[in-house]
Amino acid sequence: MYTRLFAPALATAAGALPRVSPSVMSRLVLKFGGSSVADVEHIRNVARHVKREVDAGHEVAIVVSAMAGSTDQLVQWCRDASPLHDAREYDAVVASGEQVTAGLLAIVLQGMGVSARSWQGWQIPVSTTNAHGGARILEVNAAELVRRFQERREVAVICGFQGIHPETGRITTLGRGGSDTSAVAVAAAIRADRCDIYTDVDGVYTSDPRVVPKARRLEKVAFEEMLELASLGAKVLQVRSVELGMVHNVRICVRSSFEKPDDIDPGSPSGTLICDEEEIVEQQVVTGIAFSKDEAQISIRRVQDKPGVAAAIFGPLAEANINVDMIVQNVSGDGATTDLTFTVPAADFQRANDVLTRSRASIGYERLDGANDVAKVSVIGIGMRSHAGVAAQAFRALAERGINIRAITTSEIKFSLLIEAAYTELAVRTLHSLYGLDR
Ligand code: ADP
Ligand code: ASP
Ligand code: MG
Repeated sequence: MYTRLFAPALATAAGALPRVSPSVMSRLVLKFGGSSVADVEHIRNVARHVKREVDAGHEVAIVVSAMAGSTDQLVQWCRDASPLHDAREYDAVVASGEQVTAGLLAIVLQGMGVSARSWQGWQIPVSTTNAHGGARILEVNAAELVRRFQERREVAVICGFQGIHPETGRITTLGRGGSDTSAVAVAAAIRADRCDIYTDVDGVYTSDPRVVPKARRLEKVAFEEMLELASLGAKVLQVRSVELGMVHNVRICVRSSFEKPDDIDPGSPSGTLICDEEEIVEQQVVTGIAFSKDEAQISIRRVQDKPGVAAAIFGPLAEANINVDMIVQNVSGDGATTDLTFTVPAADFQRANDVLTRSRASIGYERLDGANDVAKVSVIGIGMRSHAGVAAQAFRALAERGINIRAITTSEIKFSLLIEAAYTELAVRTLHSLYGLDR
């Protein structure tokens, strides 16, 4: 989808505007997350990173997030205003955080003698679908940005997270963490040599370093693994940013904005490179462990074990746009009927219960049980493709610690286990040691 939709912008940027300046080293996108722009002092620090790259002769586009905590505040205000608010107005509100940061960074850069201007999503424009609150980028028109790099050596400071729906002209946002996706989309559109995601950790770790103190920084992670890590809970990158990077072959580097701008060796910046599998020389069996507490479990007790039952259950859930993830079926206590257990996103838990209660007559079950206090722990590694028994080791290790597994799903390069939420940290650390990931 993206290949086609980015094409016009790419053609304009690369075709009509050939690179001329011999002093240009590379074209870079630098993205700074909320904690990196938490206040004006932090923004000054960001500006020093930007100046370093500009002084090295690079053409630079910046993508910024809202200041730490400000999107949460904006979301809360929408909820306070009305629990059932208009999604278009929600976007109008929550997109404002990025506008503040982009303007402030442009001001600070200008004060340092760096030519810069801010860009809101609609000004570029970053065209998106009209799925307010979770829109997808359709196209980034990079022509003007590129022209200004070349004619004025001007740094583009772009508001992440936001775009515009071309038909309605309304502001859209890309879902929480969406500035990562903005950055990779801009990188694809301007054909950047690299997209640097600056955050509060110095790379992608074998697990969330806040939970696993012994987690190690990874030098390189394959796109496919990063896709799994991100979609299974490692929020260091938004899932769609990784998808986009994979489709457009954007080299993504996750690095720390807290490293002193002047201490960085431009030749070998530290951080984690997200790249093609072929670039990774030493492939471990397990690369990382992710976890998510945003799951809820639903069990339907004593359903008739006959054809059509799964359709009767999952059909109405699909119609209600509720994603079902892990599914387990086992024989009920009476030996004659079956129990079906599955997970849905925690945010959809109540809705899913309502849908199933309404469909009770057509499904035919005795009881509905639900649990919100569950967590999904996932083990990810491309090496699993060629190694058997990786999951079995985990089952044993968790059993030894008295952790009960409620559901399991597997795919080629990952498996996920549903457990009681209270055991999340213990399970993650146990598996981290088990697979030799500890520092
Ligand atoms: P930003 O505001 O810069 O976008 P985020 O908070 O969205 O930053 O993402 C960075 C956070 O992601 C880190 O502080 C870390 O706690 C968390 N994280 C989760 N899993 C991982 C992982 N495997 N590697 C690195 N960070 C991770
Ligand atoms: N400010 C938005 C959020 O907090 C987007 C982002 O930071 O990536 O979700
Ligand atoms: Mg983020």
